[in-house]
Order: sequence, then C-alpha cells, then structure tokens
Amino acid sequence: MEIRVGQGIDVHPFCEGRALVLGGVTIPSDRGLEGHSDADVLTHALMDALLGAAGLPDIGHFFPNTDETYRNARSISLLEEVHSEIKEQGWSISNCDITVLAEIPKISPHIEAMKDILSTALEISPDRVGIKATTTEKLGAVGRREGIVASAVVLLFRGR
Ligand code: MG
Repeated sequence: MEIRVGQGIDVHPFCEGRALVLGGVTIPSDRGLEGHSDADVLTHALMDALLGAAGLPDIGHFFPNTDETYRNARSISLLEEVHSEIKEQGWSISNCDITVLAEIPKISPHIEAMKDILSTALEISPDRVGIKATTTEKLGAVGRREGIVASAVVLLFRGR
C-alpha cells in the first residue's frame, strides 16, 4: 500500500459586509473574510493538503482568483471537485486534521456541523475529520483580530 501525507495553510483577512463561512458553515459574526470565493479559509487549507498529498498543483492552479467562475464560489463545491481529482488518481483519504487560529468568533460550537459537511463532501465518516480551534493569545495579526489562519494535514492511501 502506498501512503502519502499532505499539508496546507491558508490566511484570509476579515472584512465587513460578508458572511463568515468556515468548513461550509455560516457562522454568526459581525464580519466575514475577504476573498474571491466565499473565503472559507478552513476548506482552502484542506484542499491544498489534499492536492499536496497527491502531488497535484495548488488550489490557485485549479481555481484561479482571476476566473469569474469562482467569484463567491462555495468552497465546499470546490472541495468536492478536488476530491474527484484525487479519487481519479486512485487515492482514498485515511483522515484529515485541521487547526483554525482565530481570536474571534468562537469556533467550537460549530465544529460538529463542519465535520458533517466536510466528511460528506469527502465521502468519509466524520471521525476521520479532526477540527480544532485555538486563539493566538492576542499575539500577531490573528491576535489583533485582523483575520483567520487555517492549517490542515491529510493522509492518503492507495493500493493494498
Ligand atoms: Mg484561500
């Protein structure tokens, strides 16, 4: 059996007048994230981890921010496309693990809903999707509430 690890990181600044979408869940917030798509930073990190593990180019290659097709795109739909891409290459997902760094808002009440959405998109059981959230103890850009950072790792396998 062949196994591969992948990692992905993404950062988006806060902006006003947009919905805050994380892991496909719209979270009540007085601000959203700036970005060409729905700016779902958590899902973007996960997509890059999947693509990296499969040795494929990053999400900027598949979904360029110069392409109007992807303006305000639902990142969960893009994740489904990434999943199809890696499935085509014979890969299955063992598990993925994601950490979100955010000073605001409180992420933990929404983690179960995110796991349901992400695991459905990836056709795996929710226990194969880890999601943790932490603050940066008021340090740095995240600590100043300027945006949100997400980091993801995945393990893929194929063959027997
Ligand atoms: Mg992004």
